Amino acid sequence: MSDLIERSADILATARYAVALTGAGISVESGIPPFRGPGGLWEKIDPMKYAHIDAFLDDPETVWNVLIKNMKTVLDTAQPNPGHIALVDLERLGILKTVITQNVDGLHQMAGNGDVLEFHGNFAWQSCLDCSRRIETALVDLTRIPPRCSCGGILRPDCVFFGEMIPHEALIRSQHVSASCDAMLVIGTSAMVQPAATMPFIAKDNGAVIIEINPEPTPLTSRISDLPLLGDAGSIMPRLVKAIRRRIPPPSQPITPPPMTKHRKAHDTIA
Ligand code: NAD
Ligand code: ZN
Repeated sequence: MSDLIERSADILATARYAVALTGAGISVESGIPPFRGPGGLWEKIDPMKYAHIDAFLDDPETVWNVLIKNMKTVLDTAQPNPGHIALVDLERLGILKTVITQNVDGLHQMAGNGDVLEFHGNFAWQSCLDCSRRIETALVDLTRIPPRCSCGGILRPDCVFFGEMIPHEALIRSQHVSASCDAMLVIGTSAMVQPAATMPFIAKDNGAVIIEINPEPTPLTSRISDLPLLGDAGSIMPRLVKAIRRRIPPPSQPITPPPMTKHRKAHDTIA
């Protein structure tokens, strides 16, 4: 593992344009369960039954009770973890330019990343199905399920349900940055949800090095990952940043004149 981290640090320290694609796994250490994998929500519920737009429109009460209410409780208080913070460090080092995220938890922005493309929307806001008014999720009153807008319309999260379109700008820019990057960090995604899962293929086809961080192998691992770092994002990412810092010279210090002694004054000239 240390060898793979060192090789990944070599790549990233010299990368001209690095991009990260993140999935639910990067937020697991913030207490947010993923969909797939051990402890994932899909062990308990059927996605097509509850996370499809048709299921929501047919029976919003059930989808709110089974899926959305729990997400609100967890996301209202979730905080970034060392994996998110490492991505901010990489951005401040001038290496990471953009984060493409499938997550709806807003934790990359909360941690401090500047350019975050939200592929699946953001859970922080709800929209009224009738009048389109928007309201902050944290302010939604859950005493009545499904919660309603002041006009009486049902509220839905501003996230992309299965069966819905990806926000146009996020999709186009994600494709563009994936095609432009020379290194892509793929962190905590099962790479099963399309079209997000095509981004690493776009990057690879355009010559980027794929560095994957995940405790489990994914469909990408044997196919396109150049450097698979098997482990949790919260421990691997800070190690990676540390290894990169060792390769980057510290910012040069301003040249300070030698201290003046009683034998030498500021106006003295040196013969
Ligand atoms: P996923 O749930 O399909 O897969 C999660 C992946 O994370 C798995 O491959 C798992 O092995 C890995 N993982 C688990 N713990 C990890 C850790 N500590 N560090 C790194 N990786 C870890 O996630 P997905 O690929 O993002 O697709 C699911 C969809 O569900 C997404 O599109 C997203 O919209 C949505 N979702 C979002 C959140 C969130 O916003 N935090 C949470 C659950 C689901
Ligand atoms: Zn309304």
